[in-house]
Amino acid sequence: LVPALAPFRTTIFAEMSALAARTGAINLGQGFPDSDGPPAMLEAAQQAIRDGFNQYPPGPGIPALRRAIALARQRDRGQTFDPDTEVLVTVGATEAIAAAVIALVQAGDEVIMLEPHYDSYPAVVAMSGAKHVSVQLKATADRFALDLDDLAAAVTPRTRMILLNTPHNPTGTVLTRAELQGIADLAIEHDLVVVADEVYEYLTFDGTEHVPIGTLPGMAERTITVSSSGKTFAATGWKIGWACGPQELVAAVRAAKQFLTYVGGAPFQPAVAYALEHEIAWVAELRDSLQHKRDRLCQGLTAAGFEIFRPQGTYFVVTDIRSISARLGRPADGMAFCLDLPELAGVVAVPQEVFHDDPADGRPFVRFAFCKQDRIIDEAADRLARMS
Ligand code: PMP
Ligand code: GLN
Repeated sequence: LVPALAPFRTTIFAEMSALAARTGAINLGQGFPDSDGPPAMLEAAQQAIRDGFNQYPPGPGIPALRRAIALARQRDRGQTFDPDTEVLVTVGATEAIAAAVIALVQAGDEVIMLEPHYDSYPAVVAMSGAKHVSVQLKATADRFALDLDDLAAAVTPRTRMILLNTPHNPTGTVLTRAELQGIADLAIEHDLVVVADEVYEYLTFDGTEHVPIGTLPGMAERTITVSSSGKTFAATGWKIGWACGPQELVAAVRAAKQFLTYVGGAPFQPAVAYALEHEIAWVAELRDSLQHKRDRLCQGLTAAGFEIFRPQGTYFVVTDIRSISARLGRPADGMAFCLDLPELAGVVAVPQEVFHDDPADGRPFVRFAFCKQDRIIDEAADRLARMS
């Protein structure tokens, strides 16, 4: 492995799912739903296979899917994209982000990201030879919040990109319009590109508004908006994602993308096109059901002695394990806690330290996923409450 990649080990998600499989523990680690997406979408994929959508699709994605993505962004976000030149279908949001970074930053550039950060972000920045600069979201009484002064202080003459994520994994923070305006002001002042990872865009709770940064004045021309069908339609294994933005930026991302995977997911593309056009009511039900699951897990975790940060969106709730660790007579070390949790309680979770540059900054925090059936959430909560 080249030195820049040496720090990147097997992703925590694979590691923790393997731990769950090995021990038979309930897997509240890796974020994937345990029920399927809209039945008509699943049928559409099967029909597409029967109809022969089994060879390479066009490089930028099939026209029907690009049209459906543009339509959904217009309908749900008020953003206008030309499906022929401003929409690119990718192998999940992961590839959209990787291709955007590889296409738009070079060795010596700096990419600012919020910390805790999704694990692929530092890795793809390292692959591009650039350097990532993290700005910490800070735990306040009820949420992890962005300090705009910290963000401003992170900008240097070498900064080229801000890689943003809202709704935010792992904290569940949904950036406010004011926070996003502050980010936009800096991006415009310093002529930065923003890559906005919005994979949880439809999964916000209590009426919390998701604001795409690309809709703020002056931002459309410098923003690549990334999203994915995985979270929106509960089909994380299909890996159909997309990047939307101004023509020149999307052309650059496409140039990188074609040498990463070229194309992917032929029969899933028409199915996702169908879902974007016809299943948005299903997504609203998914969101409501996830809000209920969030409440259920938050209540269970609180009863078991965890301190929680109630998320405004995503699949995840972050807990502070300091007090429960004290009660159990253990150090408040999230990694050790997660490695022992199958034995302690028969549950798997994810230590937040893997989303930090300095693991110590995330040590007392542990992330649990609530995108699971109610009885699974209840059983996990019961097991955690019985832990001693
Ligand atoms: N970004 C974030 C914040 C995520 O949580 C995930 C994973 N689920 C991804 C990107 C990757 O999305 P995809 O599975 O579509 O590649
Ligand atoms: N996004 C998912 C999570 O945060 C995992 C995706 C993956 O395994 N790469 O749990």
